[in-house]
Amino acid sequence: MVWRPQVVRTVSSLRRALAPSHKAGNVALVPTMGALHRGHVTLIRQARRRARRVVVSIFVNPAQFAPHEDFGSYPRRFAEDMAVLSAEKVDVVWAPTPQAMYPEGFATRIAPEGAAKAGLEDAFRPHFFGGVATVVAKLFTQVEPDFAMFGEKDYQQLRVVTQMAKDLDLAVKIVGVPTVREKDGLALSSRNAYLSESERERAPTLYRTLKTAAADIKAGEPIESVLVAGRAKIELAGFIVDYLEARHARTLAPILTRNDGPIRLLVAAKLGKTRLIDNIAV
Ligand code: AMP
Repeated sequence: MVWRPQVVRTVSSLRRALAPSHKAGNVALVPTMGALHRGHVTLIRQARRRARRVVVSIFVNPAQFAPHEDFGSYPRRFAEDMAVLSAEKVDVVWAPTPQAMYPEGFATRIAPEGAAKAGLEDAFRPHFFGGVATVVAKLFTQVEPDFAMFGEKDYQQLRVVTQMAKDLDLAVKIVGVPTVREKDGLALSSRNAYLSESERERAPTLYRTLKTAAADIKAGEPIESVLVAGRAKIELAGFIVDYLEARHARTLAPILTRNDGPIRLLVAAKLGKTRLIDNIAV
């Protein structure tokens, strides 16, 4: 028989849908904004390995978009997403309406600091992590998952959510999942759909540059000069670079020498109208 996940749209029906699973054992949550791709599917499969019941949330969260950003045009493909979620035998799809998430009079916001103020994404999207932390905290209290899966693709987000869960003593284990890539190295992203053919050809420069930079830093080249060269390479491919930085992999604090920590290289750059981000470990 064809599998159909249960779709729920109000918090009370969500509670009813999940009550038996909380009694029966583990629940893993995969928060998404939909337009699902192989990256999301990897998170879902990792969730399945840890928990008896898998909940996928689909919510394009208005609170994490600035007015000039792509909230209106962000891809929404519920029917296609349901086909993916059915094939993966996901148990519950939590697809709240904006009113269910933010009812009239909603007036509370989580204000993350630390990694959320590292001067990376937050420098270019100042509203972003407040919006993410608030909706993720709500998703956690709604679903009450034992595990929640987040992609390393959004590395600063993974650090912020991990810190929030720790600071607020949330009873959920945050699981980071390595970035899933196209054959040419481009990190899968719902926003890749915005790229023109010529932009798509140039987009893998981001990952290629990160890989070269990581190798050069490992080989002992000074971090600063590696970053300057990397930035130039990315600009040559037609990107406008927001940042290319070497940071401490856990705290996201700036790194001056190779001995300052486990290093993570993080990049964000615009190609035409599309803003892409990526990161790798050194
Ligand atoms: P999004 O729908 O883009 O908000 O992403 C939902 C979750 O999927 C987040 O935890 C992302 O980090 C994760 N994700 C997105 N793209 C990838 C990818 N290429 N590989 C692994 N995880 C990803």
